[in-house]
Amino acid sequence: MTEPAVGPRIDMEILVSLSKRRGFVFQSSEIYGGLGGFWDYGPLGVELRNNVKRAWWKAAVQERDDIVGLDASILMNPRVWVASGHVDTFADPMVDCRECKKRFRADDLEGHVAASAHGHAAEGGVARCPECGGELTEPRMFNLMFKTFVGPVEEQASTVYLRPETAQGMFVNFDNVLTSTRRKLPFGIAQIGKAFRNEITPGNFIFRDREFEQMEIEYFVKPGTDEEWHQHWVEARRNWYLGLGIRQENLRVRRLEKEELAHYAKDTYEVEYLFPMGWSELEGIANRTDFDLRRHAEFSGRQLTYYDEESGEHIVPYVIEPSAGVDRCFLAVLFDGYREETVRGEKRVLLRLHPSLAPVKAAVLPLSRHESLVPPARKVWDLLRPHWMTQYDDSQSIGRRYRRQDEVGTPYCVTVDFDTLEDQAVTIRERDSMDQVRVPIAGLVEALRERLAGV
Ligand SMILES: [Zn+2]
Repeated sequence: MTEPAVGPRIDMEILVSLSKRRGFVFQSSEIYGGLGGFWDYGPLGVELRNNVKRAWWKAAVQERDDIVGLDASILMNPRVWVASGHVDTFADPMVDCRECKKRFRADDLEGHVAASAHGHAAEGGVARCPECGGELTEPRMFNLMFKTFVGPVEEQASTVYLRPETAQGMFVNFDNVLTSTRRKLPFGIAQIGKAFRNEITPGNFIFRDREFEQMEIEYFVKPGTDEEWHQHWVEARRNWYLGLGIRQENLRVRRLEKEELAHYAKDTYEVEYLFPMGWSELEGIANRTDFDLRRHAEFSGRQLTYYDEESGEHIVPYVIEPSAGVDRCFLAVLFDGYREETVRGEKRVLLRLHPSLAPVKAAVLPLSRHESLVPPARKVWDLLRPHWMTQYDDSQSIGRRYRRQDEVGTPYCVTVDFDTLEDQAVTIRERDSMDQVRVPIAGLVEALRERLAGV
């Protein structure tokens, strides 16, 4: 095996093409020309996505003794978004081209945002349309929340918003969770769910979507301990990505400048990944202070406090919020795993995915379509299906099938050959090293379980 020919700095197009060809990601409603900023996850994509979410939930909820889960509704009382500040301030400056009428984010054109959808910076200080070079309007603020209506009447009073973040569902349930679980500070609420933002310029494949999924924790702490907990979470979240096999050199933590902070944040760190378009946010870890609980208490008239037995006082906890994107994590995992290698003079494409994330854990491959191999191969597949996501592939040469599995990150291939008919054994072939080992069928589940420990 040789060194990878291509590092992490591969073109986005390579992954877009692989994703479509192998069924990871499709353009939404593609047969109608698609819809900008929306994507569909195919048969392998849905597995990888679920695995990302499962890994997060395990680290965020299952393995901790201080965090509980929640699944709040997407549409909420519209007053939530008034209280949270989103109705007033959740907006991007937008400019229109006077010539071609295309719309852009003003901050993209100034080149401030590393992950700008188009990557065009203003030349000579005067921004022109990156598409046609036309003159641009003055920036106007554009609210990013999608609106819809609840009930049969389309009027102002029935306007609701598709949530632009999952966080508020956790803040408005603070008292419900506290009361029903009898938690003591510090404790957290975790949630995975869809969120929607009417981005002016979605782009960079699934990096900036209009519909996306978040994995968020609201971690409630005593005021005064917030900075210490903030550091804890920055470290914990960085380590989570490393634990999934993301290479250290492609990951960094950046503290936001004061002028980059959201309206609710005292301090924010970003975990960033080195995508082809540059360092871009995978996750934001914000100190939201007591902003949200205070605002919801004020707007709802309900008391959202915690009784501190030590001091005998009701306090409003501070919140540390690690907020990660499923889609961005998915993209980083694909980039980081992607390798092109030369093996015995032939190119092989390899997704070096952590086994816990791999969409398929094992593929069963009869050496050929010879009829004598079908029954034992099907039996081996039957044996594995209850334990893991598996595939059965009997088309084309065995070499081609190994390559196909390498390309989607399958850690193990199980080959059934003519010797199997005599010795009741099969060959396990490992993805990265391509090492092969013979094991009896009777011990196959155990042998794979050992190799897939904890998956
Ligand atoms: Zn234009």
